[in-house]
Amino acid sequence: MAAAAAARRLSPSTGFYTDLAILPIGRTLVDNPTADMRPAFGSPIPVFAKVDADSNGTFVDFYHAIAVLNEVGNKLEHFQRCYLHHSQILKAGPTLQIWAVDGAEAEQGKMSSFAVDFKLEKVNSDLYSAIQEKKSKSLVKETADANGNKETTTTVSKFEEKIEQSSAKMYFHYYGQLLHQQNMMQDYVRTGTYYAAVIENQADFQGRVVVDVGAGSGILSLFAAQAGAKHVYAVEASDMAYYARKLIAGNQPYGQRITVIHGKVEEVELPEKADILISEPMGTLLVNERMLESYIIARDRFLVPKGKMFPSIGRIHMAPFSDEYLYSEIASKALFWHQQSYYGVNLKPVHDSAFQGYFSQPVVDAFDPRLLIAAPVIHTIDFTTAKEEDLFEIDVPLEFQSVVAARVHGLACWFDVLFDGSMAQRWLSTAPGAPTTHWYQLRCVLSQPLYVLAGQPITGRLHLVAHSSQSYTIHLTMSASMWGPGGVRGGVLQTSTAKLDLKEPYYRMSQSPAYAWTQQDQASQYREETIAQQQMQQQVDGMSIQQAGMSLQQAGIPQEVASQVPTQTLVQQQQLAVSSIAQVPQQVPQQLQQYYPQNYWAS
Ligand code: SAH
Repeated sequence: MAAAAAARRLSPSTGFYTDLAILPIGRTLVDNPTADMRPAFGSPIPVFAKVDADSNGTFVDFYHAIAVLNEVGNKLEHFQRCYLHHSQILKAGPTLQIWAVDGAEAEQGKMSSFAVDFKLEKVNSDLYSAIQEKKSKSLVKETADANGNKETTTTVSKFEEKIEQSSAKMYFHYYGQLLHQQNMMQDYVRTGTYYAAVIENQADFQGRVVVDVGAGSGILSLFAAQAGAKHVYAVEASDMAYYARKLIAGNQPYGQRITVIHGKVEEVELPEKADILISEPMGTLLVNERMLESYIIARDRFLVPKGKMFPSIGRIHMAPFSDEYLYSEIASKALFWHQQSYYGVNLKPVHDSAFQGYFSQPVVDAFDPRLLIAAPVIHTIDFTTAKEEDLFEIDVPLEFQSVVAARVHGLACWFDVLFDGSMAQRWLSTAPGAPTTHWYQLRCVLSQPLYVLAGQPITGRLHLVAHSSQSYTIHLTMSASMWGPGGVRGGVLQTSTAKLDLKEPYYRMSQSPAYAWTQQDQASQYREETIAQQQMQQQVDGMSIQQAGMSLQQAGIPQEVASQVPTQTLVQQQQLAVSSIAQVPQQVPQQLQQYYPQNYWAS
């Protein structure tokens, strides 16, 4: 009787789903290898279920029914907690659900798969729909009224408002893997500069509360603890949080002063404010991944007024470049679609789309800084004052003066960030010619190059528009006045535009070895590879010249002007460019040297 009365009170309105039993799957098979191979269920355990949430996300707790019915009350302890983002739940029948709990959660010695058997179909449906609803809106806020009655409301976080779920899922899946964290940790320019910046500025960390925004493996939290932080909150949204916990637990005494919080910085709550934030939120072109917005949100949510940020500013550098070799490589990729009889099929109808497609990919590789033809324009983002909205659209007017006569193939971009410590300032730079990082540099290539003379101005605009897949659409316009016979200087403009998706870069490293800085062995290897590339290029010689001819027309260059462009054939120009990279001692053009002071980047 007493039990029935208690069960009546414990309805879903009190949060409990009653009258279910958990049947462990597979136990019997393991325990008894001679059993037949039909799915085997263990003995049923009568349970109650409750849906709830904490800073790690929404979960379902299963309680022993007997414990609930005896009203152990406040001391009630669940025996199995399943976070929804780790659980696959299948409604397998009117009164049956199958649960599979994956990831690190299953490692903690809990059941990784089980069946839930319901006495009533309705309870099955109710629990299932409650779970589906929670899965779609994962942020749960609990408020209490004056009488202490708690009310649970679900809201959508700033992150969920603007980022597509499928994008976020793939993004955090990627960072949840140790191999990708290793890739970043093995970028010694990156990690070494962070280490130096923290250790050189111990005074900024000593006795302070630190938040590590997007902690990943927890490496920066451990640096902060090494520098004497009083406490570090390591906030990480991906499942890497579980490995971070392991790593931190295994690194005492520092680990004692670090708490890993599994969740998004937009959503988690912290017990205290931070004196300093540390983070590595930079993507290619600085802004890719849109994590700078999370860094800014973390600042507004967690940092004390006038608290420090490591790093505190980021700068995007942009300069026009001339790279015949790259241009023809991209232009000739679409030649495949120029064939009129591919197994008897005419591929030409989609040639133009393929051509545009290749030019819509920003190129990521390490290039020789001598390909730059003008001093860079710099766009600075101050992380300590910027608003989240400032990053939704970034508009940079471009104005350059070419130092050489050249064919301009597009805009080269790189970034740096500053650690403005109270003891030492340190820059982490991804500039061409500086030690290469895993970000390399980024180049937007124009399908219609421009022609400029030495001293001639190049103008334009770089317009970045954020999109819901955690990246940006890049709109680039570059112009220069027409030159040569028939052109009126300062009058008619050659204008070229490009629309690129920062989310779909062309990683060029596998084709072309990284730019070799002074290292002799790398230089000779490079020479061998470039000779092989030249030989390959000679085979497509005819095609490339044809392609170049097409581009001149497309660019609207009159015939008499076109005849004045450099006299070498395309292949000769490429050979010249390639051999100069391989043989001439590496040097930044004199006119540009002031932009690359020797100790500009971290040493
Ligand atoms: N700090 C680590 C990892 C940097 S990579 C290091 O320097 O090695 C960026 C990390 O931030 C990833 O692990 C990613 O999962 C995490 N991250 C990105 N956006 C986040 C957000 N909004 N909330 C919490 N973590 C986030």
